[in-house]
Amino acid sequence: MAVFCSNCGKSLTDDARFCSACGRPIYVAAPVYVQTRLIRPREGRMIAGVCQGLANNYHWDVVWVRVVTVLATVFSSGAGLIAYIVFWLVMPEEPLALPPVTTYTQPNGS
Ligand SMILES: [Zn+2]
Repeated sequence: MAVFCSNCGKSLTDDARFCSACGRPIYVAAPVYVQTRLIRPREGRMIAGVCQGLANNYHWDVVWVRVVTVLATVFSSGAGLIAYIVFWLVMPEEPLALPPVTTYTQPNGS
């Protein structure tokens, strides 16, 4: 795997931290957490976070998600509840928020 400087495009060794040509720091793809899939958030949940997760993912108002869920449950003899349980089972829970870890180290080890 070749690493290329994002500034000047110079090919660098895999373990390079700085570009040998222009000195620009080399950023290795950092694990940045971006919500791109359905998860059950830990904040704002009432039962299991299903409605909140759907609302977050689709930018809906969580109140309406809950209203629709309840109405669907009442008027479809429980289908809304079944859907809720299915979502509960298949939607992963949001990972626990950990404090940011500083991984930067001086290139000369000091
Ligand atoms: Zn460079």
